Amino acid sequence: MSIRIDLFSDVMTKPTPAMRRAMADAEVGDEQKKEDPTTNRLQAMTAELLGKEAALFLPSGSMCNQVAIRVLCRPGDEIIVHRSAHIVNFEVGGAAALSGVSSYVLDGPGGMFTAGEAAAAIRPLTSNHHCRTRAVCVEQTSNIGGGRVWPLAALREIGALCRAHGLAMHMDGARLMNAVVASGVSAEEMCRDTDSVWLDLSKGLGCPVGAVLAGSKDFIKDAWRWKHQFGGALRQSGIIAAAGVYALENNVARLAEDHANARLLADGLKDLPGVIVEEPETNIVFFDVEGLGCTAQEFAAAAAEEGLRVSFGGKHRIRAITYLGIDESMVREAVTILRRLIGDWASRRMADKKAG
Ligand SMILES: *Cc1c(COP(=O)(O)O)cnc(C)c1O
Repeated sequence: MSIRIDLFSDVMTKPTPAMRRAMADAEVGDEQKKEDPTTNRLQAMTAELLGKEAALFLPSGSMCNQVAIRVLCRPGDEIIVHRSAHIVNFEVGGAAALSGVSSYVLDGPGGMFTAGEAAAAIRPLTSNHHCRTRAVCVEQTSNIGGGRVWPLAALREIGALCRAHGLAMHMDGARLMNAVVASGVSAEEMCRDTDSVWLDLSKGLGCPVGAVLAGSKDFIKDAWRWKHQFGGALRQSGIIAAAGVYALENNVARLAEDHANARLLADGLKDLPGVIVEEPETNIVFFDVEGLGCTAQEFAAAAAEEGLRVSFGGKHRIRAITYLGIDESMVREAVTILRRLIGDWASRRMADKKAG
């Protein structure tokens, strides 16, 4: 059956007619000469939103992470990062391959770690045997961690630690605006201590392409060089940057709808035996199906047969994400499908047990 409700990821969002009009009407020029007015505007808007001196438009969030690591670190340096982070798992070893950087991974619930845990991971400079610790990376919100919002106090503690040890702080802000809308803390406040931070445009903000990296003027000056080296320098990028401008003006507050829909989904499943639903904080819902006697992969395949696509993060952990394009009625239908599937697996399990 074809997929009717796609909760695989918020990257499945598609530009709305109004966003497409903004793109079609965009004023453009050569981005590499800094003559694309729309890209320049998006960069200025993002820098202001995040309280940074400057910003740089890049084709993807992964490139933002990789450019930032390349600017902040030297080969042989080490970053401190959560084990579940996108940087560690989904960027093809980019930190090691492109920047010669080692990753010291930390565990901790919700994709987060404490400043104390990060402090214990800093390599001593007293020996010639160690990497040099150069940066601490946080993911706001944590993706595989469950869409959790790093509390402001935790970020401030990491910031203070970084300052005390001369480390950089990097924020993978793929879903930073989800964290802002969910917590009511401003974006500027949330990334006050960061040396580099970026926003993904192509997730909850609803754009087809793009991400914006922000930091000091010097940081962005260096980032420009790596953007060229990594092949991310563009030409009339205003066509896609216009979607970003439109999104920052129109699609931020509405993230609250995605969060409400995620809660609706989680509430629809949480009383069922055999599944453990993680309380959503933003637009990401995880639930564990081990109690149903199936793997996440088997469960996801069965859901796809019903026209519902979900993904998984872990052997028994199913992930569903809400976004612009998924409305409340689709979420209600998804709940109906999931409840039926969960019921089917549970009764099959009971029957197996009796037979066994
Ligand atoms: C999606 C994602 C990225 C990568 O962004 P792309 O624009 O897909 O390259 C990085 N970090 C996190 C936490 C993400 O969810």
